[in-house]
Amino acid sequence: MIEKSGSNRILKSSFNFKMKELDIAKFGGTSVGNFKAMLSSYKVSISNKATKLVVISACSGVTNILVELASGACNSVKVDELISKLRDIHYEIIAGLGGEQELKDHIEEHLIEIRKLAQEASMERSDDLTDRIVSHGELMSSYLFAALFNHFGTKAIWFDIRRVMRTDSAFGCAVPLVEVIGSLCKEHLQPLLEGDAIVISQGFIASNSEGQTTTLGRGGSDYSAALLGEACNATSISIWTDVPGVYTTDPRIVPHAKAIPELTYLEAAEMATFGAKILHPSTLVPAVRRDIPVYVGSSREPEKGGTWVRTKTESHPAFRAVALRKNQSLIVLSSPKMVGASGFLAKVFEVFAQYKRSVDLVSTSEVSIAITLDAGTNTSGINQAIPDQMLADLRCFCHVKVESGLSLVAVIGNQMSDIPGLTTEALSAIRDYSVKMICYGASSHNLCFLLKAEDAPDALVKIHKHLLED
Ligand code: ADP
Ligand code: ASP
Ligand code: MG
Repeated sequence: MIEKSGSNRILKSSFNFKMKELDIAKFGGTSVGNFKAMLSSYKVSISNKATKLVVISACSGVTNILVELASGACNSVKVDELISKLRDIHYEIIAGLGGEQELKDHIEEHLIEIRKLAQEASMERSDDLTDRIVSHGELMSSYLFAALFNHFGTKAIWFDIRRVMRTDSAFGCAVPLVEVIGSLCKEHLQPLLEGDAIVISQGFIASNSEGQTTTLGRGGSDYSAALLGEACNATSISIWTDVPGVYTTDPRIVPHAKAIPELTYLEAAEMATFGAKILHPSTLVPAVRRDIPVYVGSSREPEKGGTWVRTKTESHPAFRAVALRKNQSLIVLSSPKMVGASGFLAKVFEVFAQYKRSVDLVSTSEVSIAITLDAGTNTSGINQAIPDQMLADLRCFCHVKVESGLSLVAVIGNQMSDIPGLTTEALSAIRDYSVKMICYGASSHNLCFLLKAEDAPDALVKIHKHLLED
């Protein structure tokens, strides 16, 4: 049984509490997925006296269920089945808390609202409706997590983060309005953080200036924690997940990958950008702006230690990690008029800018330009990468070829362009695969290969073995 006081310190890690320290702890879906996981996360939260704000994801699997309900494609039998799955997940946690009726009633209110919104979606789905539906995941999990704190004698306040997390109206992948968030936090959140209760709130969800619910895109809770860290002047941001830190590559692909004790912001940002799912790609941006160290650890096994991400590290290895980014598309634009002409690239990028599509990798030749785009999805699961109209606009002045079903394998390291023979080393590891594109030189921190999606995981295993194991 768990101690009922807040004095339980299971982390013998580098946390060193001083009066002014403020840690924002974020717990991902698996860390709050059931009663046992929530209990571990509770212990982790109270073990660090500086943790005053806890931001959590929906219970594991819940956002996927809500996205399905929001798709508008579920008949009434399917809706019943999904709602009952949601009930089971949350009732299991309530059972651990003694089965309180008040908690069940609260979850039932959410389920009634979700059912009503799912019916609306079956008539006409939309990204704003999806955001309203999926927000219930974080609202339910955070309510139960706050109840768990109070159940075990730690004073906790539930806080609706939509009061301070302000974004634009790009439903499904909204852009945070950093200055507004700063002043709203000062007004509504900071006073609570100075009190004696721990504030429990939601990641991922936010609101626009009209008060409509928005979301930061799938996996966005890490980003929420970092934005709140920035707004509240936190001294650390802790990302608690299902692995003890950031590894040399995804341990699901290479089980013997090694944990990395410390990373620079730059290295971690490159890893996140190039697909290391452990951190949402935007997470490091607010942390860098305020120079807030980010800790990544396992909520289930906090004693295993984790990774500190900060400005400087003691080691700067040439090869730090390998990442895999799926769902890539390659667009090759060619025109004989490009030879010796100027302004072609500007014209191309203008079209991409007009459609607000961010270009990732670029490579050019005499008559063509190759560009990769992330065919990632917003919260609704809608592929946003290549609008037909954008391709039509490009076809007005050049030939356009699109190839999908590709993945990017990125080697992340330091001063890579200064090391003789480095590209040969990496290339020799993947000699058996056809490489669609290579990007190297723009940053001394990465070397990227675009490969067929089906080849990429094997290629990653080989590169990892060759560069980080042998
Ligand atoms: P959470 O729900 O806690 O946000 P995620 O599933 O989003 O957790 O991220 C954790 C997962 O990220 C791990 O289970 C692991 O499979 C994956 N991952 C990908 N790349 C890495 C890496 N380099 N190091 C550690 N984990 C990684
Ligand atoms: N619950 C959201 C998702 O599953 C956000 C997150 O977990 O970070 O994408
Ligand atoms: Mg995540």
